[in-house]
Amino acid sequence: MPIPLHLAFLFLANIAALLSGFMLGMSVHETIRPSLTDILQVKEVVFIVFGMVPAALALLVTGFVFRNLIVGRCPKCGGRAIYHASRKKKAIFGGSNKVPITYHCEECGYVHRTRIYPASPMNHH
Ligand SMILES: [Zn+2]
Repeated sequence: MPIPLHLAFLFLANIAALLSGFMLGMSVHETIRPSLTDILQVKEVVFIVFGMVPAALALLVTGFVFRNLIVGRCPKCGGRAIYHASRKKKAIFGGSNKVPITYHCEECGYVHRTRIYPASPMNHH
């Protein structure tokens, strides 16, 4: 799929994964609650074990799917363009440059730079 579409889907899928992971975990807890030990009845523990953990797992799975199974389309050759998260790169004169989300084409090696830095999505510098 075209890269902007891939990014949009990835964004939505991440939100959906967080929410559904959380809700699924909570409903699992609801179901198996009677057979749990006391520590797994404590609200904060339940929140982490049955809320945050499944949400994080769902996020990992989503990331895997959008890196390996669903990929972008290279604007140059139409090949498989693989998503790379934004990251920091060491600059030559010290300090570091922020690299936005990029897509690397497997066929022709073209690197498509998006303008999206997760920390500041609307930052165009
Ligand atoms: Zn290409």
